[in-house]
Amino acid sequence: MINFEYTRVNSAKAAVAAKSKNVAAQFIAGGTNLVDLMKKGVTAPQRLIDINALPLKDISSDAKGLSIGTLVPNSVAAENKLVLEKYPLLAMALNAGASAQLRNMATVGGNIMQRTRCPYFYDITMPCNKRIPQSGCGAMEGYNRMHAIFGASDKCIAVHPSDMCVALAALNATVVISGTKGEKKIPFANFHRLPGDTPELDNNLQTGELITAVHIPANRFNRSYYLKVRDRLSYAFALVSVAVALEVTDGSIRSASIAMGGVAHKPWRLTEVEKYLIGKSITANVFKEAAEIGMKNAKTYQHNQFKVKMGKSAIVEALTKATS
Ligand code: SF4
Repeated sequence: MINFEYTRVNSAKAAVAAKSKNVAAQFIAGGTNLVDLMKKGVTAPQRLIDINALPLKDISSDAKGLSIGTLVPNSVAAENKLVLEKYPLLAMALNAGASAQLRNMATVGGNIMQRTRCPYFYDITMPCNKRIPQSGCGAMEGYNRMHAIFGASDKCIAVHPSDMCVALAALNATVVISGTKGEKKIPFANFHRLPGDTPELDNNLQTGELITAVHIPANRFNRSYYLKVRDRLSYAFALVSVAVALEVTDGSIRSASIAMGGVAHKPWRLTEVEKYLIGKSITANVFKEAAEIGMKNAKTYQHNQFKVKMGKSAIVEALTKATS
C-alpha cells in the first residue's frame, strides 16, 4: 500500500474546498471500489477526503420527483418505501447489483463514480489507456468477452459496470453537484462519457466537484422491469442488462424509456427503440422488431459477438416482463 493522507469533513462546502486544493485527493464514502483500486495499485490518491459525516443521507419526494442523497447506501435506497412505490425499476436494478454486503456499504454517489471492471484496467502489468493514457489497450486484442458493443473507440472498449445507473438513465434522472461555483445539475445521460480519445475520463465531473444527490423526475410510467443477464445469479457484473419503463394505456404504449447496461462506456439509451414503440400495441412482433432496432448498430470484438443475440433476447424479455 502506498502511503496517503486521510481527512474527514463535515460539510459539502468543506469537502469541495478540500478537494479543490488538491487534485491528487479523492473523496471516499463506502470505499467498495476505491479501496480495491488502491490495493491493486491502479490508483494512488495522495489524500482521501472522508465524506461519510456529510448530511446527505436523506430520501425525499415532492410533486416534482424523488431526491436521493449521495450517501444513501444502495441497500437502503432499494428498500425505501418511496422508491418501491414510485420507482420500482430503480429498486430492481439496485438489488441486481453486487452482493448484500456490498450494497450495505456502497453509496449512491459511489455507485455512479465506480470504475470499469475491465480486467486489464486492474492488472497493472498490462497496457491500459484508461489507467495510463497512451499506454495502449490490452482488451482490444485480448479477452474482450465483457466489453462494449456500442460507443467504443480505438482507445478503449470498456463498459460501465453499474446496474443502478442503467435504471437512473432510463428514469431520466439528474445528478446534483456541488462545486466551488455553487450547485449545478447534469442530466444523467450527459454525466458519463464515451471513451473517445480520453478514456481516462469516466464522466464530466470537474475537479473539486462533489455529487450531493440524484433527482428522479415524476413520470407517468406504469410498467417497468430490470433484466440482468450474467454468468451467475449473484455477485456478477452484467453481460447485458435492460431497464425498461413504459407508459401503457388500453394495451398501447404511450411513452417508452429504455437503457442498456454492459454494452457501453455509459448507460446506453435506446432512443430509436423508444421512438419506434410509441403508439404500438403490446405484441411479440413489436418487441422483436424493437430488439432488431436496438441492436442494429452493434460493433463486436473477437470474444463478445454473443452479446448481440443476447441483447436482442434481453430486450424482448424485459419488454415482455414489463408488460405481463
Ligand atoms: Fe483499459 Fe479500456 Fe482497454 Fe480496458 S478497454 S484495457 S479499460 S483502455
